[in-house]
Amino acid sequence: MGKQAIRTAIKADLNTPAWEQPQLHNRWHPDIPFSAKVAQGEVVKVETLDWTGGQVGNNDSADDIKYCDLSRIHYLSGPIEVEGAKAGDVLVVEIQDVQPRAEQPWGYCAIFDKNNGGGFLDDHYPESAKAIWDFEGIFCSSRHIPGVRFPGLIHPGIMGCKPSKELLDVWNKREAELVAYHHSIGTERTVANLPNPSYAFAGAGDETVIEAVKKEGARTIPPREHGGNCDIKNLSRGSKSYFPVYVDGAGLSIGDLHFSQGDGEISFCGAIEMAGVITIKCEVIKNGMKDMKMKNPMYIPGPVEPHFGPSRYLTFEGLSVDEHGKQHYLDVNIAYKQACLQFIEYFKKFGYSGEQLYILLSCAPVQGHLAAIVDIPNACTTLGVPVDIFDFECLPKEGGFKKIIESNCALTSGN
Ligand code: ZN
Repeated sequence: MGKQAIRTAIKADLNTPAWEQPQLHNRWHPDIPFSAKVAQGEVVKVETLDWTGGQVGNNDSADDIKYCDLSRIHYLSGPIEVEGAKAGDVLVVEIQDVQPRAEQPWGYCAIFDKNNGGGFLDDHYPESAKAIWDFEGIFCSSRHIPGVRFPGLIHPGIMGCKPSKELLDVWNKREAELVAYHHSIGTERTVANLPNPSYAFAGAGDETVIEAVKKEGARTIPPREHGGNCDIKNLSRGSKSYFPVYVDGAGLSIGDLHFSQGDGEISFCGAIEMAGVITIKCEVIKNGMKDMKMKNPMYIPGPVEPHFGPSRYLTFEGLSVDEHGKQHYLDVNIAYKQACLQFIEYFKKFGYSGEQLYILLSCAPVQGHLAAIVDIPNACTTLGVPVDIFDFECLPKEGGFKKIIESNCALTSGN
């Protein structure tokens, strides 16, 4: 038998409001109805909107980021019913291709306001800023960050199966306990986003489903044991992901496609966010959860990646001593932050603003690694930046560097 034509299992219209498209949803809940069905081994295309459902425009102002409504995100395509998948199985998702939408060959990367989403460096860069990236085949460049061009490693930020009601209850309980604890000790930061009825969207769900999803639908921001917003840049073409299946039919949802992202996705809207189309093939390993003692997803990266050569990374080291000189005990979070801040200070010498570099570090193909987490009291992380993404020489040299960059990224009005 010859090969079948590839069917588009889910369409997502760029010109219709996201919340009017019943094949999409923006919360995790077992009762959200399946919006498509695939056979095992069938290759299908799935169209997606960008994570915000079109709230961000191709313009030179970061106001749309500053006022972005985060109760609406993420708009996901699905849930897809996989024929024959049963609770306890493992779903294998092979990504055959990921592309931007032909109608929209651009994306954006941005810094969220400290009071609306924030990001890894929001104590240092609390205000919104944005960069638009134009796609040119596999490459991208930005009028808001001159002097840089690199190939994308296109991937979905979010893939995951429907949670069971039991698992959803576990998530909601443990996250509510975390929020309550931080409330009790006076933490000002938002430490988790609990279910929120505002703009909760249950796809084709009826009134009863909508009510349940408003009340208890898990937000899509964190990755959890079903997958979700893992933001792993290597889940690109040719990769295989293994997800625990909690309900019959699996209920795979996909969204938040990225043209490129650095390890850590540090500015939160930190990848080059785009609307796109992904080609997938689903298969099932019967009883895989028990046989492989699976708790969290696993994956095999694809064989196609941008290639910079091992000696073409300028690698910044970070230790668990914070910017005030305080010693912390093996704190990897603080160590990675120090590596990021050192990259920013180094490249500011070429004339870039801190915001431009914060954005660049989020979305360029940088590699974050754990070097050591045993040498008390300091954790040691590394941040490798491929120097060939810059169209100028940037390796360390005597005499320092000349200022060559003179323009900034998009800022908010009044800045
Ligand atoms: Zn994203």
